[in-house]
Amino acid sequence: MLTVDPGPVRGEELDWRARAACRDVEPDLFFPTPTNGAALVAAERRALSVCRVCPVLEACRTWAIAEQPHGIAGGLTEDERRRARRATTLRAGRAERPAVVPGPSARTDRAPVIAAGQTALTAGTDRGDIARALGMTRRTVDRWAAALAVPAGGGRW
Ligand code: SF4
Repeated sequence: MLTVDPGPVRGEELDWRARAACRDVEPDLFFPTPTNGAALVAAERRALSVCRVCPVLEACRTWAIAEQPHGIAGGLTEDERRRARRATTLRAGRAERPAVVPGPSARTDRAPVIAAGQTALTAGTDRGDIARALGMTRRTVDRWAAALAVPAGGGRW
């Protein structure tokens, strides 16, 4: 049994759910009740630790970014998926410039921004577009790509 609402089943493309690491985990783990602070961080870490070893993380992440606004899914928090959606929208040419320009406070926690950037890189988004959308330098995005082993010029590996 899956712990995250799978939404409408659309055939074989969703077969990955049968191999989900969370299928035998208490569903509430992925929907933390704390809304902020250390309790929320701890709850998110517990759920993310399951995703980290999930054999279908990539497939789930693609689905979760597109279709799951709530809870932890695809190894990302709600905020991280929201940012990834913005980056994906940019790639598709449906947005000129997402409002994801980190201010001083956002710079203290770049994990969601990095996650959004890495997700966009794996989706093949142009590095320059990612840098502009996330308020990062091209050099920073190049470093993320190097860490992910994305070929020069972006694109899938
Ligand atoms: S990535 Fe996380 S939420 Fe998605 S199937 Fe795996 S364990 Fe479940």
